[in-house]
Amino acid sequence: MRMDEGEFGWCGECGEAIAEKRLDIDPTATHCASCAGAISRA
Ligand SMILES: [Zn+2]
Repeated sequence: MRMDEGEFGWCGECGEAIAEKRLDIDPTATHCASCAGAISRA
């Protein structure tokens, strides 16, 4: 594991794990792709 386990890696909306690829692209991502998409559209 590169990152400490903690706040990162888990969607703040639905609690699902955030894909590692997504975190590679955006390490600050706090929501899974599904929820982030819903948020950015809102
Ligand atoms: Zn989510």
